[in-house]
Amino acid sequence: MSDAPLSAAEQKMAFLFALRSRGVTDPRVLQAMEEIDRGIFVRGLFAERAYEDTPLPIPCGQTISQPSVVGLMTQALDISPRDKVLEIGTGSGYQAAVLAKLARRVYTIDRHRRLVREARTLFDELGLHTITALTGDGSLGLPDQAPFDRILVTAAAEDTPGSLLAQLKIGGTMVLPVGQSDAVQSLIRVRKTEAGLDYDELTPVRFVPLIEGMAQDE
Ligand code: SAH
Repeated sequence: MSDAPLSAAEQKMAFLFALRSRGVTDPRVLQAMEEIDRGIFVRGLFAERAYEDTPLPIPCGQTISQPSVVGLMTQALDISPRDKVLEIGTGSGYQAAVLAKLARRVYTIDRHRRLVREARTLFDELGLHTITALTGDGSLGLPDQAPFDRILVTAAAEDTPGSLLAQLKIGGTMVLPVGQSDAVQSLIRVRKTEAGLDYDELTPVRFVPLIEGMAQDE
């Protein structure tokens, strides 16, 4: 192996290979992640590491998730093209952009105004007009647009937020990290049926915490 830097095409190949080797095998998810360039969502110092399978810092002290975790969460949601999806934790906007390739409509909420503003600009640039990004406390969900076919939470709560469960359709699926913010958390899938809620534990993960209320910084 030479030490020459990888070409853009080689970086993309390595990116997709890392996804597959970590269990992201659904061809629709792989296709969506091939179409959405993570490099656009990571700026500044870390931009050159955008195709590595690692979380990276974004503004407001938050992180863009690890690509393989984005892939596993998206795969666990098993989105159909008719679905209306709610994401809590817009962050960089990367996960919402991937969801938009698979769903009919995506609503995404973050408690930091700046992150929502910057993500909206990127969605416009990419022509992703089916995404609505809103500032607010996502732990309350989005009652105006409920119920949702799929809900994805990309910040860790100690328990499944009840208001989000209430906004999930019967037949719907929610995926979220659950656990203490300073410990390893579990990625959980909840399916809502006529008979009640079915929970499965998918994989250990580490997310920034879900914090109630709006951020006051900007
Ligand atoms: N999905 C993002 C990564 C999210 S990081 C991406 O693809 O880049 C988690 C995000 O959750 C942070 O941006 C944080 O501000 C947000 N967050 C934490 N608590 C929240 C809450 N109660 N409501 C909305 N967003 C919240």
